[in-house]
Amino acid sequence: MSNVQPVRGTKDLLAQEMRRHSLVETAAEHIAGRFGYAKISTPIFEFTNVFARTLGDTSDIVTKEMYTFQDKGGDSLTLRPEGTAGVARAFISEGLKQQTPYRAFYSGPMFRHERPQKGRMRQFHQIGVELIGVGEPVADVEVISLGVALLRELGLLNDTVLHLNTLGDSESRSAYLAVLVDYFKGHEKTLSSDSRERLTKNPLRILDSKATEDQSIIANAPAYSDYLTTEASAFFTQVRTGLDDLDISYVLNPKLVRGLDYYSHTAFEFVTDKLGAQGTVLAGGRYDGLIEMMGGPATPGIGWAAGIERLSMLLDDVPAPIRPIAIISMGAEADRMARKLAYDLRLDGFAIDMAYRGNLSKRLKRANKLQARAAIIIGDDELGRDSATLRDLDSGEQQHVPLNELANLLMPFREDFGGA
Ligand code: ATP
Ligand code: MG
Repeated sequence: MSNVQPVRGTKDLLAQEMRRHSLVETAAEHIAGRFGYAKISTPIFEFTNVFARTLGDTSDIVTKEMYTFQDKGGDSLTLRPEGTAGVARAFISEGLKQQTPYRAFYSGPMFRHERPQKGRMRQFHQIGVELIGVGEPVADVEVISLGVALLRELGLLNDTVLHLNTLGDSESRSAYLAVLVDYFKGHEKTLSSDSRERLTKNPLRILDSKATEDQSIIANAPAYSDYLTTEASAFFTQVRTGLDDLDISYVLNPKLVRGLDYYSHTAFEFVTDKLGAQGTVLAGGRYDGLIEMMGGPATPGIGWAAGIERLSMLLDDVPAPIRPIAIISMGAEADRMARKLAYDLRLDGFAIDMAYRGNLSKRLKRANKLQARAAIIIGDDELGRDSATLRDLDSGEQQHVPLNELANLLMPFREDFGGA
């Protein structure tokens, strides 16, 4: 076999990395549960249209990043680059309108063909929530506060800043776009080539440009706030008041424009300065037009997604959750008996480690390496007396115990598997 490297932009999650990943996922599921968001799972691939029609023809994702292929039946399918379109599709095809307000939490891999770098992968993982069917600004506050609660639970709240903006309603947007395009046209010659291209395709995205030559032009651009309709402006004020009521602090960032076309009103991002260029860990917004655009009943929605890898990178190491009990047997008879004992104890809810070979000191070393909580040592002679040696590996204390009392004495070392 020649190709034993993982595909560029993908990676294996092992040991420590896997534990951090799971910690983020589990914390998110618990917090989401407290807010009433039940876990759902949608397919990893969808008909290409689900993404192409909704994310917008000019979005980065649709223009360059999708993993699209034709399956054997001739359908054009795409590996999901994000979660919202799939959830919205499910909302329509499962007829969930009756269940609004519909609250969903998801977690899983996403796929985007972009240039891999720190915090930017081609297969990465997101956790996300969607609140569908509530058009009021209190919904925006609920969804943002769920993000805050998660970051707090992970101990990351102080590492991030909440950036907030409004993208207005469609009336505000067309008024603003007209003046914005006029303004940028006046500076067309000095704009970066990317931004010049966006001028016809997606002018709002110029505000988001990182190119140096664009910065002073962007700084002097007309402000969206001057072009918001009274309604859009009032909506935003209510979101801000709601956040204030919950003591959630934020900074206003008029340059925050989401990459996807289906957003309106509230847009937000939690940003950290601890990850270099890839500083956005959690991002979301309101997508009132999405479900109708997909052919469903007009239904507002709001949600966010967070990159598990980026959150994981901010976490301290997570210790292995389970400290096993090592069974160390010496001699053929003892081995057989110990395997039965290991099996019985495992059925009883204990985490048991047992090696296949090695002398006593090797096996004790292994037990230490696995951070075993205790060791049960059984030799042929102990077996003759129906007893074993139980050693507390933290205190070093050891005692001879009758085999039939073992399970009781081990009770304090029983691992909590959370519901097992
Ligand atoms: P960016 O501006 O970084 O490209 P985006 O606007 O494309 O972000 P979203 O589509 O909003 O990102 O995705 C939400 C979150 O998912 C991001 O804030 C980030 O944490 C994570 N994310 C997005 N793309 C990647 C990727 N290629 N690799 C790892 N994480 C990612
Ligand atoms: Mg992107």
